[in-house]
Amino acid sequence: MEYAIGADIGGTKIQIAAVDREGRVVDRHLLPTEAQLGPDQVMGKLLSGIGLILSRMPANARITGIGVGSAGQIDFASGTVAFAGDQLPGWTGTPIKARVEERFGLPTYVDNDVNVVAVAERLYGAGLGLDSFLCVALGTGIGGAIVEAGRIVRGAQGCAGELGHVSVDFNGPRCSNCGNNGCVELYASGSGIARLGSELIDAAKELPAWRADSREIAQAWLQGDPQAAQVMGIAIRALAAAIAGYIHMCNPQAVIVGGGVSETGSVFLDELDREVRGRTSPSVRSAYRLLPAYVGNDAGVIGAAAQVWLYGGNI
Ligand SMILES: [Zn+2]
Repeated sequence: MEYAIGADIGGTKIQIAAVDREGRVVDRHLLPTEAQLGPDQVMGKLLSGIGLILSRMPANARITGIGVGSAGQIDFASGTVAFAGDQLPGWTGTPIKARVEERFGLPTYVDNDVNVVAVAERLYGAGLGLDSFLCVALGTGIGGAIVEAGRIVRGAQGCAGELGHVSVDFNGPRCSNCGNNGCVELYASGSGIARLGSELIDAAKELPAWRADSREIAQAWLQGDPQAAQVMGIAIRALAAAIAGYIHMCNPQAVIVGGGVSETGSVFLDELDREVRGRTSPSVRSAYRLLPAYVGNDAGVIGAAAQVWLYGGNI
C-alpha cells in the first residue's frame, strides 16, 4: 500500500498522520506545539513526530512523500516560512522543506495551512471536480485560499489568498495585523465576533445572557436572542460584503466556508448566502455556490499529505 505523511502545524498543536491515496487517515500522532519554546523546539517536535509515524508503518508500506501545512505565510517553491506572526514566534525564515528532506530523504511539500485545506477539499471534499473556487477558513482570524484552473493562486511571494484582510469599512477600526481599517477579520472571525459582543455589552442598558465569546453568541443567536442577532447580523453582513468582493474579483464556481461560527450549521450559511446574493451582480452570481467545508477536522493533515499526490504528478 502507498501512503503519504501529512503534518499540520498550528499555534497550539501539531498533528501528524499517515494518509492513504483515498484521503483516509490510517495512523496519527498529536502533540502540543509549545510555540513559546522557539522554532528549533517546534522543528524538533515535527521531525520526531514524523519519525514516530514512519516507525509505526507496516514493513510493506510504501511512503511516497511528506506534506506539511503550517500556519503563517509559506514560500511554496523553497518550502520556507515567509512570515509567521505571534502565533509561532521566531518561525519566520524556517526552512521546513530542507530540514524534513534532509532528515528523511523523501520528497517534501510545504504550504500554508489554508492552502492545504483547499487541496483536501478539491481532492476529497466540497471542491471535488471544481477548477475555480475559494476557501474561507473562519477561526480566531480568517484565512483563505484561491484555486484557479485547478491550481492554488500564490502571487509573487506565496502570500496570495489573505482573504481576512480585505476591508469592508475603510473608516472601521485599525487592523493590528496589516494596518488597514475595517478588515473583515475584525467582524466575522472568532475574535471579531467577540469584539463586537464586547462593544454591545459596553453600550447595553440591559446586559445580555451571553459572554463575549463567538460560540456563545452564535448559540444565543440560534435560540432567538435579539442582542446576539444584532452581533451576528453585523458579522454576516461584513462577511457577505467581503465574499461579494471575492466573487466579483475571481468569478468562482464556489466559495467554501468552514470553521468557527460556520459550524453552527445551515442557518448561518443560508443567511450568508442570501446576503451575498443581494450584493453580487447577476453574471457572477449565477455561477457561484456557497458550500460548507466537507473534509472536517482532519482536513489539515489530509490536505498536507495530499500535496504529495497532487504535486508529485501521480494523481
Ligand atoms: Zn488586516
